[in-house]
Amino acid sequence: MSSALNDVAKAPLPILQLVDVYKRFNEFTAVSGISLNILDGEFLTVVGPSGSGKTTLLRMLAGMEAPSDGNITLRGELINNVPAKQRPTCLVFQSLALFPHKTVGENIEFPLKVKSVPPAQRKERALELLRMLRLPESYYGKNVMKCSGGEKQRVALARAFAYDPDVLLFDEPLSALDYKLKKVLEKELKDLHRESGKTFVYITHSLEEAMVMSDRIAVMSAGKIVQIGTPESIYARPETEFVAEFFGEVNKFPLVRDPERGWFSADTDSAVTLTLPDSLQGAQAATLIVRPEYMRFASAPDEFDNVIRGSVFNEYSLGSRIQYQVRCGEKSVLIEIPRTLARDAALDQQVMIGWNAADAFVAEA
Ligand code: ATP
Repeated sequence: MSSALNDVAKAPLPILQLVDVYKRFNEFTAVSGISLNILDGEFLTVVGPSGSGKTTLLRMLAGMEAPSDGNITLRGELINNVPAKQRPTCLVFQSLALFPHKTVGENIEFPLKVKSVPPAQRKERALELLRMLRLPESYYGKNVMKCSGGEKQRVALARAFAYDPDVLLFDEPLSALDYKLKKVLEKELKDLHRESGKTFVYITHSLEEAMVMSDRIAVMSAGKIVQIGTPESIYARPETEFVAEFFGEVNKFPLVRDPERGWFSADTDSAVTLTLPDSLQGAQAATLIVRPEYMRFASAPDEFDNVIRGSVFNEYSLGSRIQYQVRCGEKSVLIEIPRTLARDAALDQQVMIGWNAADAFVAEA
C-alpha cells in the first residue's frame, strides 16, 4: 500500500458528515454552505460571535431542524430528515430541562424507563452514572431541586449518558455557572469525554472553554466555518485577523511594502522582518499581528528580529502574568510576561520591546 493510502486507512472515520449544508429562515441564511467531517470519538467545539449560526448548526445535527440544502450523513446514511428521537444523538442545554419534582435517580433513569429497562437494572445504571459524574450515590433519592447549580449540571449530564447516545451535543451547558465551577466542570467534561470515548460536539462563547477541552475548534462567522483546527493551531496560526482577534488580545501593525525599505510599519516608523505566507507574496499591504505574550522587553536592538522603542504607559496585573502598555509614538503596544520574569518597568521608563518573525503572523490587510 502506498504511504498516502496508508494514511487514509489510519485516519479516524467521520461519524457525521456535512456537505454544503445551508439553513435559511425566509430570506435570512443562518448557515451558509458548511462542509465538515466530525470524527468518531472527537471533541469538536464550535465557537463564534452571537448570531454566527452555531446553535442552528447544532440543531440540524440533533434533528431539530432540517437543512434547507446540502446533506448530513451519519456513518454514511443520509439523515437530513430523520427526527431527533430516531438519532443516536443527545442534546444537553444550558437550561438543563430536568424534571423539578423528581429525584436525581428518577431524572437519570428517565431515558431507561422510556426504553422499558427493568427497575433494578435502571437503578444500577443510575448509580454507575452518579459515580461517573462524581456525585455521591446517596443523591439517588434526593429531590433534584435541592441540588446546587453544579450538581444539577452533573445530573443533566448523567441523564444524557443514560440515553447512551453515540454523539453528545452541548449548547453552552456551562454558561450559567460561576467561574470557579465552570473551571472544574470544563476539566471534568474533558475527562468524561476521554472515559466514555463518545463524540462530543460543543458550542460555546468561551474561548477558554474551547481551548481547554477540544481536540479541534471550528470558528464560525456569518454562517460559515472560517477556520478549523487544533486549539494550538488556531491560537498560534490564525488565518485571518478575525480569528486572531477572536482568540485573545493582539497587537496589530498595518504594513506597506516600500520599494526601498521593504515591509514597513508606518505606525512605528520601522522596517519589519516578517515571514510572509505564500498567499500574500504579491501583496503591497498586510497586517502584522503579534500576541502580547510573544512580545518581550529587549536589552539590545539585535536581541530579536524586530525591536521597537517606546515608554511604559501602564501596567496591569493578570495574576500569574503581567501586561504592560508601551507607547511607541502614537502606537500602543501590549506586552505580557509571566510574573516570574517581570522586571520593574517604571511608568514612563524608556524601553525596547521585541519579537521574532516566527512568533508573529501576517494577515491580508
Ligand atoms: P448565540 O451565540 O447568540 O446563541 P448563534 O451563533 O448560536 O448565536 P444562531 O442561534 O444559530 O446563532 O442564530 C443564527 C441566526 O439565525 C441569528 O441571526 C438568528 O436570529 C437566526 N435564527 C435562528 N433561528 C431562527 C428561526 N427559527 N427563525 C428565524 N431566524 C432564526
